[in-house]
Amino acid sequence: MATVQLTKVGKVYAGERGVHFRAVEAVDLAIQDGEFCVLVGPSGCGKSTTLRMIAGLEEISEGVLEIDGRMVNDVPAKDRDIAFVFQNYALYPHLTVAENVAFGLETRRTHRNALVAALTGAGTARGEESAVIRARVAEVSKTLGLDALLHRYPRELSGGQRQRVAVGRAIARDPKVFLFDEPLSNLDARLRIETRTELRMLHRRLAATIVYVTHDQEEAMTLADRLVVMHKGRIQQNASAQECYENPANRFVAGFIGTPPMNIVDGHLKAGAFVANGVSVALGAEHARLGDRASALGFRPDRVRLVAPNAPSSVSASIAAIERLGDRTDVALDSPWGRVVARLDADATRALREGEAAGIAFDAAHAHLFEPGECGGRIVA
Ligand code: ADP
Repeated sequence: MATVQLTKVGKVYAGERGVHFRAVEAVDLAIQDGEFCVLVGPSGCGKSTTLRMIAGLEEISEGVLEIDGRMVNDVPAKDRDIAFVFQNYALYPHLTVAENVAFGLETRRTHRNALVAALTGAGTARGEESAVIRARVAEVSKTLGLDALLHRYPRELSGGQRQRVAVGRAIARDPKVFLFDEPLSNLDARLRIETRTELRMLHRRLAATIVYVTHDQEEAMTLADRLVVMHKGRIQQNASAQECYENPANRFVAGFIGTPPMNIVDGHLKAGAFVANGVSVALGAEHARLGDRASALGFRPDRVRLVAPNAPSSVSASIAAIERLGDRTDVALDSPWGRVVARLDADATRALREGEAAGIAFDAAHAHLFEPGECGGRIVA
């Protein structure tokens, strides 16, 4: 296993007529041995480009990439001792599960006959090598629960099984680093959740260094030891999932991490109160020290309380929609502060009706403040 270190890594794509596009900028990232690192961000934020640079599938325009302390900027992909799992599985349709898993072990003699020989013990493969391949395929199949499927072809497998085979092929080679690019995105919702639990358990068993790309923040949060939130080619925050959730470094991270998303309101601080669209709510004495300034206020849906309309320190609103999710209820409210979502205990919401008036209240201790702008930094009271 290995460490992966990026220092000021950037990627500039050369476009038509000399127009260049900077897809990744000044990425500094140190991934520890055995760490599960997830790159997450919206489509186009540069996460796949970053992963592909680590893999050696994309040239590095700027900066230094080191694996286990060795600079590998110019080392070809095949010599980086890395295994890559893509979203579309990339299985060979004419090879069985066993042959697909063994494929990575057969780099020098990649034609089918050699593989078949190795797996069946017949034909031309050298005995010792065949035995090693057979043993490794058996071991990997056991780890991933593929034993019963070894003789099937990819077309005879479900999406989840195919993905397990793709993971099996990656594991078989025992690489230094595993790279995953949206590996679960072709699976249906239920299977995605099951497979991500399997991946997490597999990571613990293998103690492998993993770099994993997804646009799905929930998937990212459940898998990551280290969460790297990207936007517009830059790292916005690099911390544990819990830290990104509780102390988002900026407004972008605050809005991206968490479901339903954090309520964020543009306004300004004035004498310890937050004012937006003429409606003011007192925050507290420590906020008064921040002075009067433009800012954005954020509070999570599960920190919202519904109070009587016009109650002190509340924002008057009307209930636009009620979504009952069983144990909890999401209530969308229209207010002078815009659309606000409250996530409440189901029991507390039985009497609520759409169209009714309500007051929005929140606990200032759990409110967040940011500088104005899309990536405005966190303001600490
Ligand atoms: P993500 O994986 O976060 O969706 P990508 O890393 O694939 O994002 O892409 C980042 C940005 O770089 C996007 O704006 C994308 O259009 C651009 N891009 C990706 N690949 C190329 C390429 N080969 N040539 C030019 N631009 C590219």
